[in-house]
Amino acid sequence: MKVLKFGGTSVGTVDSINQVIRIISENKQPVAVVYSAMGGVTNKLIEIGTLASKGDTKYLEVLQSIEERHFAAIRALVDVKSQSSIIAKIKGNFNEIEDLLKGITYIKELSVRTMDLLLSFGERLSSQIITFILNEQGIKAKYIDARDIIKTNSNYGFAEVDFEETNALINAALAENNQVYCITGFIGSNKDNITTTLGRGGSDYTASIIGAALGSEVIEIWTDVNGMMTADPRKVKNAFTIPDISYSEAMELSHFGAKVIYPPSLVPAFLKNIPIKVLNTFESTHAGTTISKEINQKGYSITGISSIDEISLVNLQGNGMIGVAGVSAKLFGLLADHKISVILISQASSEHSICFAVDPKSAENVREILETGFKTEILNGDIENISIQNNLSIIAVVGEGMKSSSGTSGKLFSVLGKNGINVIATAQGSSELNISVVIKKKDISKALNAIHETFFEIDGFTLNLYLVGPSGQIGKTLLKQIAQQSGYLKKEKNLNIKLTGLANTKKMLLDSNGIALENWKENLETAGEKINLSEFITDIQTLNLANSIFVDCSADKDIVQYYYPLLDSNISIVTPNKVANSGTYEEYIALRNIAKKRNVKFLYETNVGAGLPLINTLQGLINSGDRIHKIEAVLSGTLSFIFNTFAAGLKFVDVVKEAKEKGFTEPDPRDDLSGTDVARKILILARESGIKLEFNEVENIPLLSQDAMSANSVDDFYAVLEKENSKYESLLSEALAKGEVLRFIASLENGKAKLGLTSVGRSHPFYNLAGSENIVSFTTERYFNNPLVVKGPGAGAEVTAMGVFADIISLSSFLA
Ligand code: ASP
Ligand code: MG
Repeated sequence: MKVLKFGGTSVGTVDSINQVIRIISENKQPVAVVYSAMGGVTNKLIEIGTLASKGDTKYLEVLQSIEERHFAAIRALVDVKSQSSIIAKIKGNFNEIEDLLKGITYIKELSVRTMDLLLSFGERLSSQIITFILNEQGIKAKYIDARDIIKTNSNYGFAEVDFEETNALINAALAENNQVYCITGFIGSNKDNITTTLGRGGSDYTASIIGAALGSEVIEIWTDVNGMMTADPRKVKNAFTIPDISYSEAMELSHFGAKVIYPPSLVPAFLKNIPIKVLNTFESTHAGTTISKEINQKGYSITGISSIDEISLVNLQGNGMIGVAGVSAKLFGLLADHKISVILISQASSEHSICFAVDPKSAENVREILETGFKTEILNGDIENISIQNNLSIIAVVGEGMKSSSGTSGKLFSVLGKNGINVIATAQGSSELNISVVIKKKDISKALNAIHETFFEIDGFTLNLYLVGPSGQIGKTLLKQIAQQSGYLKKEKNLNIKLTGLANTKKMLLDSNGIALENWKENLETAGEKINLSEFITDIQTLNLANSIFVDCSADKDIVQYYYPLLDSNISIVTPNKVANSGTYEEYIALRNIAKKRNVKFLYETNVGAGLPLINTLQGLINSGDRIHKIEAVLSGTLSFIFNTFAAGLKFVDVVKEAKEKGFTEPDPRDDLSGTDVARKILILARESGIKLEFNEVENIPLLSQDAMSANSVDDFYAVLEKENSKYESLLSEALAKGEVLRFIASLENGKAKLGLTSVGRSHPFYNLAGSENIVSFTTERYFNNPLVVKGPGAGAEVTAMGVFADIISLSSFLA
């Protein structure tokens, strides 16, 4: 005979009871069905018992509401003509409850024994009603009060079953094969027939006891979720149902958080090798989870991840513990005496300290117990310190597959490390079924998601992107490129780029589910909040998502201050913004130190020469042991265009105007012509070459006159250029006379950086430049006679965004 068990939510409403009836009736064979109390009723009964014991008559109201719920179910599910007998029966039950409560009010005391009696009504009420409905609907059903068949000791609230007697009683009571047995979960009775209960959630246990006694082919636990999940679905969106799991794995998983099944229930089924199926009353076609002896790995190295949100860690430390036998025996003896349950234990082989995790509710109690228990050891200095850390969580990676494979813990610790999650304590039993880590509570979601991704999402690695400056040319183009490329990245690299945050000068928006790339603009407009950059950064930190990347596509100066806290929160940064790297040398070093300390990346290939591989090339040379002798470069697309275009017969001012019209200059072309931007770039290249240099140490031979620089408007500036035309004309003709061309060149040699206009001859690598091209030549120890030259478009939204994109992609292999 099959055993079915329906939990509190399954019997909690009229609709759900209809599902229950349907599921029962679909069984061709007669079945034994165990019911919980209607959802929430057990808690309410505890509440009214407690109220009554304080003499508080408010219990009457609560009782009234419980009664109403049961009668409402009867009215909805039983034909009016047939209601009277069941109503009378249920009313009788409620009269009994009322008498009991009246008694409790008189004596103002509620023993666990009385509480068990009170609670037993929850299961008795639901089971009687459903039995009646089944019979009404023509399904022959028999009500069985489990107190008649489940015999226990007198440990009220948590009674232990006498299996010999119980098994015999079950087999006698369920001997006939011609009806549905409807059995109350959770309750039993002792040898004097006094009511007991099996512990909260104990209806599962009742089902398992009955299934084991009958030798059932299967025990079905019908609940409100699709079986056991790979992780807590409230925290891990991609968690999925585990189809098959072993008893031991299920035990490990259900001990730690996953409240899908009451752990003791696994034992009777396990001993008789009866599979338990966890199924969903509300989605009855879902296959759910089958718990059995079978180990079915389905290609994953672990089976599930469980977690406890909140624990405290107690640490007992002292030199007197080294090599002394008995300290831990005494410790755990003390804890056992005080009924303190220990969640995890870890002791280093130095024996200098033992740490263990407990429920935070008992942490302070534990301190007292230990301080009293180890009084002498503390006095004579053998134990130096008892410390308690709060606000911690435990994550356990569970699976029998670990036994046969190596690398599970390596993978676990590496993914935690990469996401900057500090492991405070760890434990692995020699059964190799479970590796547990203790981490800070604030990291739990991030850790669960990162671990889940590593072990279960073999077809997809997700980067969380926070972008500042989506409305500028580079930001906008980057988003377009990511949208175009996302199909390819998913298919070829198993990579998902999720846009998790956006901020421009007006609005900000965070969405951990991802902002659609196609209509980010509308989303930011409609769903975004008024911008507050510091709040945006704090929100990113609080969101604390795994594999986070902050992309700064702004040219903002103020944003740089946030790079530090971001890196410090283990968030890598990618940016074309030069401000951070061209600030003081001290800041430049500080950023790198913090990135190193947190093991995150700070990438800025596009600071110099847009998408051209300049920073990477330079770093590659230096990392491989080369030495830089000299760098020469044309680093401004604008200046490149201007001097490539400036030819005999043209007025300099007209060339500048043309550059501006073509969009090659800043709104005020002097921002380019002043050389400031080029100075920043050569400064960065110098620093990358290992030279300690400040911005004001870069020698900038001014191209423009004082008058030109101080002109009040762009038009006034043009007027000055017009006036000074002869100066530029003669510069050009002097060069041409020598067979040379004008180039605005930045250079670095002997630790000195300078920039200015020069002329170069036909043999110089910079002679042939077109349009807005950039060029850099590296003369190094290895590239001595024949410098390494990188040349190509060094400006423009497309190539800059591409460079940013490439940096982002390179992070994916670093993080994965
Ligand atoms: N009704 C009991 C409880 O809420 C037993 C159960 O539902 O399994 O703990
Ligand atoms: Mg990973």
